[in-house]
Amino acid sequence: MPKAFIHFFCLSILSIPAFSQPYLLQPTRVFDGREMHEGWAVLVEGNRITAAGPSTSIPAPKEAEVIELPGHTLMPGIVEGHSHLLLYPYNRADWNDQVLKESNELRAIRGAVHAEKNLMAGFTTVRELGSEGAGYADVAIKQAIEQGIIPGPRLIVSGRAIVTTGSYGPKGFKPDFEVPLGAEPADGDALIRVVRDQIGKGADFIKVYADYRWGPNGAAKPTFLPEELELIVKVARSSGRAVVAHASTAEGMRRAALAGVETIEHGDDGTAEVFQLMKERGVALCPTLAAGDAILRYRGWEGSPETEPERIKQKKKSFKLALESGVKIVAGGDVGVFEHGENARELELMVEYGMEPLEVLRSATSGNAEVFHLPELGRIQKGFLADIIAVQGNPLSDISSLREVRLVMKDGVVYKRP
Ligand SMILES: [Zn+2]
Repeated sequence: MPKAFIHFFCLSILSIPAFSQPYLLQPTRVFDGREMHEGWAVLVEGNRITAAGPSTSIPAPKEAEVIELPGHTLMPGIVEGHSHLLLYPYNRADWNDQVLKESNELRAIRGAVHAEKNLMAGFTTVRELGSEGAGYADVAIKQAIEQGIIPGPRLIVSGRAIVTTGSYGPKGFKPDFEVPLGAEPADGDALIRVVRDQIGKGADFIKVYADYRWGPNGAAKPTFLPEELELIVKVARSSGRAVVAHASTAEGMRRAALAGVETIEHGDDGTAEVFQLMKERGVALCPTLAAGDAILRYRGWEGSPETEPERIKQKKKSFKLALESGVKIVAGGDVGVFEHGENARELELMVEYGMEPLEVLRSATSGNAEVFHLPELGRIQKGFLADIIAVQGNPLSDISSLREVRLVMKDGVVYKRP
C-alpha cells in the first residue's frame, strides 16, 4: 500500500467531516454525467463541486491543492445499482452455505470489507438489494460508514427483502425443519406489518421477489398476487419509500410494473410488450448481466461464443428488446454473485451486449442517481456533492478503463489518488 494512500486514508477517517484545502482537479477530459468534455477542470471546496468547465474558466484559489491527472477521465462516482454486500462468489461458497452456515456477525465483517472494495473500485454509491439471510447487517454497515468507522460508499439499503411463503430458499430439507431463509416470508394482510417492520428497522426501500424458481418443475413462476404487490407498494409509498422487484418472467414483471414498483431486477425473459409496459409506467430495468454470466462460468462455461449457453443467448435477446423499447436502464450487476470490486464487469457486458458506451456511462452515473432519488449525485456540476473518480484512459473508447480507477473522492474526502 503506497504511503500517500495510507496517509490520506487515515486522514479521511480521522477528519470526517473536517475538510482540508480546496482541490483543483485537472484531468485530460471530464465526463459530467451526460457528456464528455476535453480540457475541463473541476474545483472542489468542502464536500461540494463549486466549479466545473473549461480549465481557463475555473478560478484557482491560492490555497487549493492542484491534482494533475494527465491521460485520465474524471467522472462522477459510479452508482452501483444492484449489490449484495453480504454475499461473495458462489464458486467459493455455495449460496445455501453462506445463508445457513455462516453467522450474521461473520457475514457483516466480510460485508464491511466488500464495502471498501466497492468504494476503491470507484463505486461511491451502492444500492443494496437484500441481506440474503443476514438480517439487518446491511443497515449496520451503512451506519458504520456514516459514522466514519469504516470506509465505504454511500449505501441505500433494503434490509431483509420480502418473499411469499414457500417460494424462497434454502430448500430441500425435511419439512419439520424451520430453515432460516434468505429473505422474510409474508403474505396477504401480513404484508402491511412486514413492510412497516422492515422500514422501522432501517430499510430505505422495499425489495420483493415477484417471481421465483418454484414452478412444478423448478421453473420461475409468479409469487405474489397482483393485489399483494399493490398492497406492498401502497404501504411503502405512504412512508415515502420505493418498492423494487426481482422478476425474470414476463408475468412477474408485468404484475410488478402494474403494481407500481420503480425498478425490475434481472428481467431475463422480458418481452417487447412487457418492456413497453415498463416504459409507459416509468419502471426502469436493472438487467444484472454480470450475475448470469458469472453463474454460467461457475458451471463450467469458459466464455467462448461457440459454446454459449442458451441462457446467455436468451439474455442477449431480451436485453436487445429492452434497448429497442426505450425502457430506462439502470446499471447494476448483482455484485456479490461475482467478486466485490469487480463491479465494472456489468458495464463492460452492457457494451458487449449492444448498449452504446456513452449510454452506459450515463446510466451508471446520472441515470442511476435519478432513478434512485439522489438529486445531488451522479453529475460533475456546480453545486453537486463531490463524489468524483478518475480513471486512466477514456471509457468511451474502451469501457474497460473503468477498471483503472486512480482517484476516488467521496463527499469531498480523498480515499485514493495517483
Ligand atoms: Zn440480487
